[in-house]
Amino acid sequence: MIALCGGVGGAKLAFGLARAVAPQDLTIVVNTGDDFEHLGLSVSPDIDTVLYTLSGLSDRERGWGRTGETWGFMSALRQLGGEDWFNLGDRDLAMHVERSWRLRAGESLSQVTARTARTLGIGTAIVPMSDAPVRTVVETAQGPLSFQRYFVEARAEPRARAIRFEGAEAARPSPAFAAALDRRDVAAVVVCPSNPYLSVDPILAVPGVRDRLAALGAPVVAVSPIIAGQALKGPAAKLMAELGAEPGVLAVARHYRGLATGLVIDQADAGDAAALRAMGVTPHVTGTIMHSDEDRTRLAQETLRFAADLSAPPRAVAAHGGP
Ligand code: GDP
Repeated sequence: MIALCGGVGGAKLAFGLARAVAPQDLTIVVNTGDDFEHLGLSVSPDIDTVLYTLSGLSDRERGWGRTGETWGFMSALRQLGGEDWFNLGDRDLAMHVERSWRLRAGESLSQVTARTARTLGIGTAIVPMSDAPVRTVVETAQGPLSFQRYFVEARAEPRARAIRFEGAEAARPSPAFAAALDRRDVAAVVVCPSNPYLSVDPILAVPGVRDRLAALGAPVVAVSPIIAGQALKGPAAKLMAELGAEPGVLAVARHYRGLATGLVIDQADAGDAAALRAMGVTPHVTGTIMHSDEDRTRLAQETLRFAADLSAPPRAVAAHGGP
């Protein structure tokens, strides 16, 4: 099983998948387009969110970062007149310091991530999409903005015109992602409920990834991050509208056309099921909001069963006109 994952939304389903699938059968591929260098540190926000979520260290109330966080570093930084637009908690800071010196010492992002996952007791493979730098840039009405400047500093307010992934053409899938793409026993590909434009597209922009996912011959199912035309959090629906689509599950299905043949949608969107079928996308309607660990596991299990049904040969249909 291969899961494509961004940060907060994706990590919730990844948590459920990690509970539902044996570690040797699951590779969680994480977006690194959000990665950036800040105050001399290498920050990988989506990888960290997945690491914190799968190890039970994430702060559920705040919705991002580590639980039990304190902010002494930020207040001292402010006192010194330092750049304080990006919040780095004291505990979170340890992650960035540890990653930064190891990268500088020559380790790859894959190696650093694998070591940290192991140390935090995570058995499932969490792998960056690539070890080469790929940087998401949002073209806005005010000019190009690097991802964190757009997302954090400008609070995703500027109108987006286009999104590009600098460095993607030269990037290659990370070794563990490439190995997963080479397996002949991949049961399914799950596109987690992450931002399609900012979290999943960067992964798909790595050369060869789309074709190799399709060549696996496995069912590809996405879980919609859009519910009743809205994102639960973040700019997915706003971006959809700005990039010319009406926010909704039909736009999600269109976005993943040629990749996903199944889409898990929320009960609130059941009315779109027929239109999805007409597009050639099989819908699965269920509750998709994940509040608890149980929600995450149930949605993961349902998504896997749905994928298995998609790959099964069609059931024989009773002939009409019989007695
Ligand atoms: P980011 O990188 O931290 O912005 O996170 P992602 O890209 O992984 O996730 C953002 C998306 O997750 C948003 O579009 C949300 O609507 C979606 N999301 C968050 N929580 C849930 C949830 O419980 N269920 C579903 N279906 N989507 C969710």
